[in-house]
Amino acid sequence: ATPTAILVGTSIGSERGLLIKGGDVLEKVHQLDGVIFDKTGTLTVGHPSVTDYFTFDGMSSQSLLQLAATVESGANHPLGLAILEKAQQEGLSLLQAEDFQTEAGSGVQAIVEGKIVWLGNEGWLQEKGLIIEEDEKNKINELTQAGKTVVYLGVEGSIKGVLALKDNLRPDAKQTVSELQKRGLEVILLTGDHPQVAQTIATQLNISQVFAEIRPGEKAAMVEALQKNKKVAMVGDGINDAPALAQANLGISLQGSTQVAMETADIVLMSDRLFDVITAMDLSLGTFRKIR
Ligand code: ADP
Ligand code: MG
Repeated sequence: ATPTAILVGTSIGSERGLLIKGGDVLEKVHQLDGVIFDKTGTLTVGHPSVTDYFTFDGMSSQSLLQLAATVESGANHPLGLAILEKAQQEGLSLLQAEDFQTEAGSGVQAIVEGKIVWLGNEGWLQEKGLIIEEDEKNKINELTQAGKTVVYLGVEGSIKGVLALKDNLRPDAKQTVSELQKRGLEVILLTGDHPQVAQTIATQLNISQVFAEIRPGEKAAMVEALQKNKKVAMVGDGINDAPALAQANLGISLQGSTQVAMETADIVLMSDRLFDVITAMDLSLGTFRKIR
């Protein structure tokens, strides 16, 4: 491609809401074999809301929600914001707490009224030595099968209950995935969330390759492994996604993503429409087909 053609492509891109960072970016787009998507905030809108919450051992469900919101008050994860919003709707105040800590991809903890409280995924609470009883698992499975993310609340040595959160798919997620597949690209889902939740989303979108429960630190390595025999784009929005965006042959993020994701990406979809991944592909094909 001539420099002029690339410049034209880049400027058409900006008219169509694509921020394309550099002359070699459009060329990379049409060489892709696959596109990897993060789930939360990328395929989904990223604004989950609390749908269910209940306890196992006699603590009231309102106390559970209040404790959960209290430990989340130190974080700004979408799940945490949803829990805080629910607590506010229920008119609950936050409790006195200190020593807030966040474990990316796992959960949050704090000392509340002298007791350590954990809120996070199953694996993380298990690492802390907390055990989920068999008869509680059935009810929880129903929630994950419905595509809901379940977080567990532990106080000191025991799990008190769970909260389930549901995030909606972006309205153009399905069309975006199917257009990529029509063009012969492989579509892959990569998420830190539970395998069952990931599978439910993948089924809705007709995605057959799913990698779930991937820790933030493992996302880039996962991308690298997928690059063994193909060129891949990574589409993501989170702080966690930045190393994976950098590792991929092409990084794409959306307007409204975390700052570091937008900085790392080669293309930013300025109008926050996932379908502009297709706009970028068409532009690249158009630009490079013409000149050869
Ligand atoms: P994703 O890859 O879907 O964006 P993350 O890597 O941020 O997800 O988190 C993975 C999982 O860790 C979440 O599904 C949740 O179970 C747990 N988790 C992470 N952050 C929090 C938090 N602030 N509160 C509760 N759970 C959390
Ligand atoms: Mg995300």
